[in-house]
Amino acid sequence: MERAAANCILCNSSERSLLYRQEDWTVYCCDACGLGFLDPRPGVNELGDLYRYSYFDGQYGHGLKSRSPEMKKRLSQETHRIRFFRKIMRKGRILDIGCGMGYFLLACRDTGYDVEGMDISDDSAVYVRGELGIPVVVGTIDGINYPLESFDVITMWHFLEHTPDPRPYLQKARRWLKRDGMLVVDVPNYAGTDARKTWALWKGWQLPYHLYHYTLYAGNLEEAPRESWILHGSQQELPLGARQGEARADAGSQTVRATDRPLLFGTQLRRRGEEG
Ligand SMILES: [Zn+2]
Repeated sequence: MERAAANCILCNSSERSLLYRQEDWTVYCCDACGLGFLDPRPGVNELGDLYRYSYFDGQYGHGLKSRSPEMKKRLSQETHRIRFFRKIMRKGRILDIGCGMGYFLLACRDTGYDVEGMDISDDSAVYVRGELGIPVVVGTIDGINYPLESFDVITMWHFLEHTPDPRPYLQKARRWLKRDGMLVVDVPNYAGTDARKTWALWKGWQLPYHLYHYTLYAGNLEEAPRESWILHGSQQELPLGARQGEARADAGSQTVRATDRPLLFGTQLRRRGEEG
């Protein structure tokens, strides 16, 4: 076990409040920006054990045979993800960080993209390389380097909430993207209607796997370095103070769609100095 950083990693505030507690685990939120964080949390050495094959087994099922009917069905579930960037980037090279069993990358390859993955799990990498024939780099961000401007699209699907420090991933993603490249980040949103309605039963907590808990607000602080922009949210967001009962009243009053609001669910990360 280790302690989370004393000050908020997004806004540097030292003020925190209790957000959620489940058995031995406690999630606090930064009073200034709302970023949620698990404290204490599993240490770096314990994370490896948490992500043994059993995690992926439980989360995603067994590794499927590449041409099986089950795989065909599984790949069809990935098409909604490809839709986020396909209109803007019809071809090119994709890196999926936290690629897990590689199904998203396989769906991308079938659609005509060049694909590569990155993950901390050796076990899933063996499957992705061997069964799917997709290259995977295993490790944490510190030890991995691609040349500048290597990729057209970098994706992080429900990944950034798992990492002990999300910042170096965003910083490196910026360097690895081509000038008109696109970063797509998807994380759970604890201020979304889904979380507010279900709260204790909300699937987005996943303790102790999820070390950070984001909101739209926590991802869009003016003062935060641009690299820290964290963009997400599959549900409309409610004010941070709203609780279960209030959420019910507000839910469905207006649905914000990804097309109306590009920061919702995925976005384009522009380089410093560009407009946007
Ligand atoms: Zn903060």
